Amino acid sequence: RIAYVNGQYVPHDQAAVHIEDRGYQFADGVYEVCEVTGGRMVDERRHMARLVRSLGEIRIAMPMSLAALGVVLRETIRRNRVHDGFVYLQVTRGVARRDHYFPDPSTPPSIVVTARAADPRKADAQALQGIAVITTPDNRWGRVDIKTVGLLPNVLAKQAAKEAGAREAWFVDAEGRVTEGGSTNAWIVTQDGKLVTRQADNAILRGITRTVMMEVAEKLQLRVEERAFTVPEALAAKEAFVTSATNFAMPVVRIDGKPVGEGRPGPVARALREHFHETAEIAG
Ligand code: PLP
Repeated sequence: RIAYVNGQYVPHDQAAVHIEDRGYQFADGVYEVCEVTGGRMVDERRHMARLVRSLGEIRIAMPMSLAALGVVLRETIRRNRVHDGFVYLQVTRGVARRDHYFPDPSTPPSIVVTARAADPRKADAQALQGIAVITTPDNRWGRVDIKTVGLLPNVLAKQAAKEAGAREAWFVDAEGRVTEGGSTNAWIVTQDGKLVTRQADNAILRGITRTVMMEVAEKLQLRVEERAFTVPEALAAKEAFVTSATNFAMPVVRIDGKPVGEGRPGPVARALREHFHETAEIAG
């Protein structure tokens, strides 16, 4: 495998950043994960727009033009011969002696791009079963709308899920409402068939898959309500599911060990999953 690191393509097992990188020291950086299908990126434009926004919110300069970045992403996919999988991109505030203040403005941001293959049939098989989730208090900072590499609460929540035999953890705010999953957005389908997912404010990451699924829902003539829901509401729902670039729409069949609806994947999540790639932008 090959990784792109600060201007060079290097063997993945030798790819490294400096110990004084601000990403390593302070989690002072942002990232994106984009699906690759048939060797082409899915929703590249939206992922790049979110990258630009994340960088702007924490005042890191774009490491290169969007056009140049597109070339690097494509080249990394090509060099790794990824047909189906993911491309990962991380930008940090660069390498500087450890000091909380921003480094000198002449410090170039660090950029790393990797790509790896993933068999979409595995995720499809999982979707037929659905996944279990646990719930956990949302103890994250107030700006999780920025896609930063500071993911410790997410790591701890997802590990707790794994140890409980579940795949994802749903964060619950102080009012008992679900914010999102550790690496996914959370949705329910109400008994009267409405899709509900939390409004995209500072308490969730505005998932690209979430945005595209809203368009898919519109095409399927499903109503979408952007509002918070509680765990009891999710348990009483017809269906629940999560969305992300790595999961598309993944049915949730159990929450904290209790079944959602009939405890089986439902038709709405299935339809959204099936129609996702028709609606997503897949560019050359
Ligand atoms: N929420 C969180 C916390 C995430 O980390 C992710 C993806 O990594 C998402 C939601 C889903 O975002 P997307 O659909 O852009 O992959």
